[in-house]
Amino acid sequence: MYTPTRMCVACREHRKPQDLIRISYNSELQKPEPDSDRKAMGRGAYICRDIKCIERAKKKHVIEKHLKCSPCDLLYSEMEEML
Ligand SMILES: [Zn+2]
Repeated sequence: MYTPTRMCVACREHRKPQDLIRISYNSELQKPEPDSDRKAMGRGAYICRDIKCIERAKKKHVIEKHLKCSPCDLLYSEMEEML
């Protein structure tokens, strides 16, 4: 059976969606946030459920670049709490 994969924006490896955290841009709050139930519409980015990938993305603000929004440090602490 075909299993869809998504690419982690930090390590660029393809993984199963359940191994990744989806981040979407909340246009109401104008900030990116983890999309825990994967129901948010619009632009999304994926990152491994791995502290190494989160740290790597945090240093370069990879997710914000991917979502074309301003840097948000809170996003990374929210993701760390999800691990
Ligand atoms: Zn990764």
